[in-house]
Amino acid sequence: MDRKWTKKEAQELSKKLFHKPVLAWDVMDRTQLKTAMALAGSYMEFLDRAKTEREAVVELLSLAGEKGFSLAGKGEAGSGICLPLGNKCLALFRPGKRSPLEGINVVASHLDSPRLDCKQNPLYECVDLAFLKTHYYGGIRKHQWLARPLAIHGRIVKKDGTALDLILGEDPDDPVFTILDLLPHLSRKVQGGKKLSDAFEGEKLNVLLGSLPLGTDEVKDRFKLSMLNLLHDRYGLVEGDFLTGELEVVPAGRARDVGLDRSLIGAYGHDDRVCVFAAASALFEAKKPQYGALALFFDKEEIGSEGKTSAKSRFLESVVEEVLETSEVEPTGRNVRKCLLASRALSGDVNCALDPDYQEVHEKQNAARLGYGVCVTKFTGSGGKYGANDASAEYLSQIRSLFDRDKVVWQTGELGKVDAGGGGTIAKFLAAMGLEIVDCGTPVLSMHSPFEIVSKADVYMTRQAYASFFKGGKPLDLL
Ligand code: MN
Ligand code: MN
Repeated sequence: MDRKWTKKEAQELSKKLFHKPVLAWDVMDRTQLKTAMALAGSYMEFLDRAKTEREAVVELLSLAGEKGFSLAGKGEAGSGICLPLGNKCLALFRPGKRSPLEGINVVASHLDSPRLDCKQNPLYECVDLAFLKTHYYGGIRKHQWLARPLAIHGRIVKKDGTALDLILGEDPDDPVFTILDLLPHLSRKVQGGKKLSDAFEGEKLNVLLGSLPLGTDEVKDRFKLSMLNLLHDRYGLVEGDFLTGELEVVPAGRARDVGLDRSLIGAYGHDDRVCVFAAASALFEAKKPQYGALALFFDKEEIGSEGKTSAKSRFLESVVEEVLETSEVEPTGRNVRKCLLASRALSGDVNCALDPDYQEVHEKQNAARLGYGVCVTKFTGSGGKYGANDASAEYLSQIRSLFDRDKVVWQTGELGKVDAGGGGTIAKFLAAMGLEIVDCGTPVLSMHSPFEIVSKADVYMTRQAYASFFKGGKPLDLL
């Protein structure tokens, strides 16, 4: 001990040396509060219009169109280009002042959310009721989907190739659908004592469609027939058309303000449409960025990023070819790789916030908290960082300087305790293509449930973080 510290001195010193996360509400001024509330309003409208990946692409294309973006290869690329893929995946690009060979700034998020997909031969009847069979998509807790209003969204492509887009159960005058649940009085034997994952079976997630029969009881399957008759009258559908359909069962109803103070948003699909919305909104704001600004919206993240429209696909390479052409750089393989290697990215995906009722699954010192701003997650993966993207200290430092420069309230987070579980995002797939990338998204409570919760302050800070990133400047130039 070289000296004695007074209480006041020690307090001053701890202020100087300790890292203390900041509650966004504490530092936001009146203008920011107002902006945050307005942004939340637009976000909620977006959520209501974009409940599936297909609907999200349509909505984003329309918003981009309003901002002067044009489809790649059609029209002026000046204000921006849109590159959709298969109606389920999309890239929006805004050219920068510098050549893409010096790298571009990318925010990548995903459009898909956990849900129940309709099976290909879904219709049946049982004890005088008609049902639709489903196969769940992504990580759901099955019991959360029972005994609640559900809606059906999706597309059926008929044999002649004509597409029928359906949204049933969202209009206040629409009927809704539901999955039945067992009464507590009789659940003891069939479910009691079982593990939660075994107590609820995937094959029992059948959607109740109706109960009015068609004709007399001499008619076979007259409840199912009655449903088909309604669908035929209304949409010209026959049972075979389901074979070539993609119908998704999602929670019915709109996004809602939560809390007496309306500081939170409850909705289906914050994961990951909150980052999707924030990225689009930040990109639209980035008028003439230093570096090209690219927002990528992928599909199939919730099932491991498999397939053509996922982050594991080679879509990004085609996007970069288009980006190079837009900037009059020859889109050779070498130039594509050069651009990818020089590029920086944020993987815009949500992270779990510290759950007040299950704090034991988190390591509190490293868990993200609701209201403490956008969450930067250095590494993902599980137990020993398997399957992780692990961002470098150099890159993290640049992001830190950038966010601090632009007064973005941000925190770090991880997905639960070391041995508690974990999970991945699309970050690792982009990292493998050569981009510097770190996860950066909104903290969520009740994640993957039909009613996920986010803080309006965090939504705002997520948008601010992406805006700061697209704006770029000094810290990112250091690379
Ligand atoms: Mn996600
Ligand atoms: Mn997810």
